[in-house]
Amino acid sequence: ARKQSAALAGEPALSRNGVRVAIHATIADPAELDGLDPSHFDGIGLVRTELFLDKLEKLMDEETQFATYRRILTWADGKPVTVRTLDAGGDKPIKGYTVANEANPFLGIRGIRLSLRQPEVFRVQLRALARAAAYGRLRIMLPMVTLPDEITTARELLDAEITALAAAGVDHGRPALGIMVEVPAVAITPERFDADFYSIGSNDLVQYTCAVSRDEAGVAHLGSAIDPSVLALIARVVEHGRATGREVSLCGDAGSDPRMVPHFLAAGLRSLSVQYGLGGAVKATIAGLDLVDHRAGQA
Ligand code: PEP
Ligand code: MG
Repeated sequence: ARKQSAALAGEPALSRNGVRVAIHATIADPAELDGLDPSHFDGIGLVRTELFLDKLEKLMDEETQFATYRRILTWADGKPVTVRTLDAGGDKPIKGYTVANEANPFLGIRGIRLSLRQPEVFRVQLRALARAAAYGRLRIMLPMVTLPDEITTARELLDAEITALAAAGVDHGRPALGIMVEVPAVAITPERFDADFYSIGSNDLVQYTCAVSRDEAGVAHLGSAIDPSVLALIARVVEHGRATGREVSLCGDAGSDPRMVPHFLAAGLRSLSVQYGLGGAVKATIAGLDLVDHRAGQA
């Protein structure tokens, strides 16, 4: 199997009966791209920006952020790159930025909730991203969305930055704006959320659906990304995406687990973002499966 994984790493992911699955890379730091071959991936499915923007100074440094995003887009060479806006809070505090001493940080001010409370910080990231979008197919993804309004407000902030860049004559693009599906409220009624694309954050979706802390080994057996409840939520989002022509992907860690991948594909997913070293193993798993071709019969 190891040999097959290595042989398949550079090939597109195809099921035994020839159905294509998109395999994107998940990265925590642009330095991980050194030595990584872009031809092995359909793009970047998740950049966890809070892992390198881990200080307030970095959050306020537009030029360094712009250079970092541009570097990722240059690497991707025309393939889509999905950058997640800051997902600080919860298990990822940033001194001087996140709220200290919350009773239950995972249910508190994290991700987009924090970004919208600190728009002067959020705007720096949106501006750097809009500028970098001139260099490739950049997509912006919001973490921890709970209410439709959060997308609307984020879109208004992004539009305002784009308008200001245009007025100042600064090169920029208009990135697509999508959301992570991590909160059951979104997965249960995805049709309320007007996003350009959806990506299932299975780490948090399991945590919030099964009431299982993601870093408490003692309760790990109670929750799983292939729990029937979680798979039902995923299928619901896939259904919505198919009905409205929007991409649904999965970027949680479970997408890199060959034991779980068959269940996600059975739930209808045809796009995964995987730990960048595990693409070959996931492709080998897919090569052994027969999948329904959802595009068959379409014009
Ligand atoms: C997730 O929740 O599945 C996810 C990809 O986000 P993170 O693990 O960074 O919270
Ligand atoms: Mg998450």
